[in-house]
Amino acid sequence: RAAHNEEAAAKSASDTGAPTIFDKIIAKEIPSDIVYEDESVLAFKDINPQAPVHVLVIPKLRDGLTTLGKAEPRHVEVLGQLLHASKIVAEKEGIVDGFRVVINNGAEGCQSVYHLHLHVLGGRQMKWPPG
Ligand code: 5GP
Repeated sequence: RAAHNEEAAAKSASDTGAPTIFDKIIAKEIPSDIVYEDESVLAFKDINPQAPVHVLVIPKLRDGLTTLGKAEPRHVEVLGQLLHASKIVAEKEGIVDGFRVVINNGAEGCQSVYHLHLHVLGGRQMKWPPG
């Protein structure tokens, strides 16, 4: 339990609904290395990669999706689009035969940015269970 709390505190963010850094990335006010983009989703390389391929896939419109835990029936379409975009990213990055998609949810899930995002990880042998 203590280790969980330390990990959560280390990331020191909470679900306040405030704008996040991803709004600036979507608006292209700060640069990102974009891998895939369509009208609903944006995929860009993680600034602190945890694998040779580490791409974040986010909805352009947060619409209350600070976390997956806030998902409502109205979000079903964009949730599908995010998963489908993750597969497109895996293809573009050449890892379609071996990759992982992760959503960190909330403090105990180690989420640090409160704008829903899927991590697409690959390019090395993944381990299970994750940390
Ligand atoms: P979380 O910890 O919320 O699951 O994931 C947030 C991810 O966003 C982290 O992997 C972190 O490296 C990444 N990140 C945070 N700020 C930026 C940024 O300004 N640009 C990019 N490309 N990634 C970021």
